[in-house]
Amino acid sequence: MAFPKKARFVVIGAGIHGLSTAWHLAEKLKKKNGNATNNDIVVIDKGGIASGASGIACGVVRNNYFQPAMRELMMHSVKIWESDPKNFSYHPVGYMQISPESMRKDVSNIYEQQKVIGYESEFIEGKEDSMKYMKNIFHDWQAKGITSVLHEKRGGYANNTASIYGLANKAESFGVRILTGTKVTGFKRGSNSKAVTGVVTSKGTIECEQVIVGVGPWIKGIWDKLELPKKISIRDEKGKTHKDYPMWIYWFLTEGCLGVDPNFQKTNDGKMPPVIHVDSDAHLFSDVDGSLITDKMWGIYYKPDFNFNGVQGGAPPYKINKPAGDVKVDPYGVDSIDHQTSDEFAHMWCSALAHCQKRFKGKIKLYKKGPSGGLGCFTPDSFPIFDRFCENVYIIADSNHGYKMIGVGDLVSDEILGKENSLLKPFRFNRYAKGKLHPVSSSPFPWS
Ligand SMILES: Cc1cc2nc3c(=O)[nH]c(=O)nc-3n(C[C@H](O)[C@H](O)[C@H](O)COP(=O)(O)OP(=O)(O)OC[C@H]3O[C@@H](n4cnc5c(N)ncnc54)[C@H](O)[C@@H]3O)c2cc1C
Repeated sequence: MAFPKKARFVVIGAGIHGLSTAWHLAEKLKKKNGNATNNDIVVIDKGGIASGASGIACGVVRNNYFQPAMRELMMHSVKIWESDPKNFSYHPVGYMQISPESMRKDVSNIYEQQKVIGYESEFIEGKEDSMKYMKNIFHDWQAKGITSVLHEKRGGYANNTASIYGLANKAESFGVRILTGTKVTGFKRGSNSKAVTGVVTSKGTIECEQVIVGVGPWIKGIWDKLELPKKISIRDEKGKTHKDYPMWIYWFLTEGCLGVDPNFQKTNDGKMPPVIHVDSDAHLFSDVDGSLITDKMWGIYYKPDFNFNGVQGGAPPYKINKPAGDVKVDPYGVDSIDHQTSDEFAHMWCSALAHCQKRFKGKIKLYKKGPSGGLGCFTPDSFPIFDRFCENVYIIADSNHGYKMIGVGDLVSDEILGKENSLLKPFRFNRYAKGKLHPVSSSPFPWS
C-alpha cells in the first residue's frame, strides 16, 4: 500500500497508549459514521509494534495507588483488561501490597477509598494477623516487620508483547493502518497558528487534522520538536512557586527474572498466586553471605510468569543523574549499552525474595543473567500528563505508570472527539502552575 499523504488522525507510537487510542477512536468513528476509511487513522512507529516500554513491561496491573485520581483511572483500565482477557493475554490473579507500620495509614486509606469506588479488596492489619493471612496463602511466608496486607482481588498481570499485539489486531480490525519502521522527524505548522498541519516522517509528510502522541520514554524528543517548554514553574502545596524545574527526568527500572519453574511459586492450594509487592523497613541481609544489604526502607515485587519463564519482578528504580537531554534512549531496553540492571540488583532482589519466602533461599544461582529493565521518562511530579498542546496535538505522557493503563486510550478518544472526560482532568499540564498536585505517599517507589 502506498505511503499515506493524508490522514484525519496521526497517532505516534505503537505501544499501549497509541494502539489503545487508535482502536477506541476507530471503533467510535465507525459507530458514528458507520465506516472508518483506511486513512482516517494512521499509527506510526519508528520500530515495530511493542518495540518500546510496553514490550518489556513486567506487566503488573493494580489499583494500589495513594492518589484518588490514579485509583479511579486504574479502575476504569482494569475493566478494559477484564473485557477481553484472552486477546490481552491478561491473568486476573489479583495483587497484594504488603507493608510495614510506616505505610499502614496510607494503605488503610487506599483500602477505604477502594471500598467507596467499589474496587474489591481486603485489608488485614496487625503483625500476627498479617503473618497468618500470608501463611494461609504461602506456607513458607516469613517476611519480618509486616503490619498490613492489602489484597486486591482484581488486577494481576498481562504478557507484555502479546497484549500489545492483541490491541494492534483490534485497531486493525476497525480499519486503522499501522506503519512500522517510520520515524517522526518533525512537524509542519500552520502559518497563522501553532497547530500542526502535517507530521514529517522518515518516509514523507502526512497531512492531518489531529495528532496523538504516545511515545513513552521518547517523549522528551517529541516535546522538544513541538517547541514545548524545557523547564517549567511549579507551585507547591504551600503556594510557593519553584521556577526553572526541568520538565523531564529519566529513571531506570530495575527488573529481572529467577529461572525457576513458574509453578514453584504456586499457593498452598495449588493455584497461581497474586502479584506480590512487599515494602519493608526490616534489615535486609544477603542470601549469599549474610551481610547487611540495607537498613533503610526497601521494596520488591514479583510474580511467576510463563512468558518470562520464571519468577519475574523488580525493585525501586533509580534516577539517571543527567539532564534528560543527555540521556541516550536508543538503543532501548535489552539492546541498550548504557542502561541495564546490575549484579547488585540481582543480589538485593534475590535476597529480598528469600527474606519473604523460604522457598527462595539459595536460589540466587538461578537468576537469569543478561540484559533486563529499561528507561522510563518521568514528569516533574511523577504522575501522567494527558492534555492537548499546540491546539491539535494530544499528548499521553504516562510518566511510566502506563502499561496497566490500557483504558486511557478509551478516555482520550472521547476527548479527541470533543467530549471532556472527568477521569483525565486531574492530569492536565496546568496543574503544575496552579499547584493542583497529587498527594505523595510514603512508599519507596515513585509510582505509588
Ligand atoms: C522495565 C519496565 C517495566 C515496567 N513494568 C510496568 C508494569 O508492570 N506495569 C505498568 O503499568 N507499567 C510498567 N512499566 C511502564 C510502562 O511500560 C510504560 O509506562 C508504558 O508501556 C508506556 O507506553 P507508551 O505507549 O506510552 O510507550 P511505548 O510502549 O514506549 O511505545 C512508544 C512507541 O513510540 C515509538 N516512537 C518513539 N519515538 C518515535 C518517533 N520519533 N517516531 C515514531 N515512533 C516513535 C517507539 O518505537 C515505541 O514503540 C514498565 C516500564 C519498564 C521500562
